[in-house]
Amino acid sequence: MLINIHTHRNTGRQIEVVNRTFEDLVPEYFSFGIHPWEIERWDEKINEMSQVLSEENCLAVGEIGLDKLKGPNLVRQMTIFKQQIQLAEQHKLPVILHCVKAWNELKNLKRELKPKQPWIFHGFSKAALTKEVLNEGIYISLGQAILTSLSLQNALINIPLDRLFLETDDASCTIEEIYQKVSELKNIPLSELEKQLEENFKLVFTK
Ligand SMILES: [Zn+2]
Repeated sequence: MLINIHTHRNTGRQIEVVNRTFEDLVPEYFSFGIHPWEIERWDEKINEMSQVLSEENCLAVGEIGLDKLKGPNLVRQMTIFKQQIQLAEQHKLPVILHCVKAWNELKNLKRELKPKQPWIFHGFSKAALTKEVLNEGIYISLGQAILTSLSLQNALINIPLDRLFLETDDASCTIEEIYQKVSELKNIPLSELEKQLEENFKLVFTK
């Protein structure tokens, strides 16, 4: 069974955790949260989040996080992020993280908040951060970038299989392509990769 832990496109072909917004219909499994780009639009809705997070098929809070290139100022983003982390802790849900040029801030928040729920760095592409992210106890989710980025492909050596997830995000590639590439790079059979990622999924997306 292939598992796509973060996508904006519901294909219904595998286990997919679809990123839902306030406007969407309800996909089978989904994550829910206020994206840093959407804060101005949705911050008043944060009180309504609890209800959605308690829905049976809501498997994670996300994507949420910090973005220095887009969205409102970082202080505002951090406030909303912290509130959502609190909700994730209350609802015992893992967090799917969006982090753009804000790793130090994110790392410091992790250390400050000491969350019990797992965090997953989604769309991970900064090979140089691999060890640091793993050292903070954060899972890594790889998407389309692993198909082409040589530095990321090299960094994969340092990502243990039990700390890894795969996703398509909003890219047009398929989850099959990403599994295939990772199994080649890790030099393990596809079936073994599938099995390990299923175990990771059961461990982290516990609902
Ligand atoms: Zn996304």
